[in-house]
Amino acid sequence: MKILRDEKLLRLPCMEVSMKQGLKTAKQLFSILDNYNRNYLVQGIGLSAIQCGIYEKVCIINLQNNKFCLINPKIIEESNVKFTTIERCLSLPGIEIETQRPLWIRIKSDNLGIQIFGITDIAKFTKYDKLLVTCIAHEIDHCFNRLIIDFKKE
Ligand SMILES: [Zn+2]
Repeated sequence: MKILRDEKLLRLPCMEVSMKQGLKTAKQLFSILDNYNRNYLVQGIGLSAIQCGIYEKVCIINLQNNKFCLINPKIIEESNVKFTTIERCLSLPGIEIETQRPLWIRIKSDNLGIQIFGITDIAKFTKYDKLLVTCIAHEIDHCFNRLIIDFKKE
């Protein structure tokens, strides 16, 4: 299965899924991302179902072998303080965008319940925390059809 690069297809709505269906999709996404990372120099750390033409609210993260999936995730709260970073997207090859992301996000998903990612103290913000919170926000954005190129318009 290929990773979609057509913006129009990334703007179609995603459905909520059952836990069973979500876990099945997540398994597929891990294998697609592993396969991608074996074949390309640029390494992906997250993937959403919509990027593979599966219109479900499911995404996966594989950051330094810390793997997890999110089924029907949404961001329910985020810090007012933001940091600036540079993001890329496997669906938008060759594009780098400067984005602002919150230091922490509180998310709710069917499989993990309510969890906070990121950190409250900017002095203790490691590169890993920064990548993790950015990646999770980026993948959840895909579930709601938001792309990094939208940051330019805001
Ligand atoms: Zn992306």
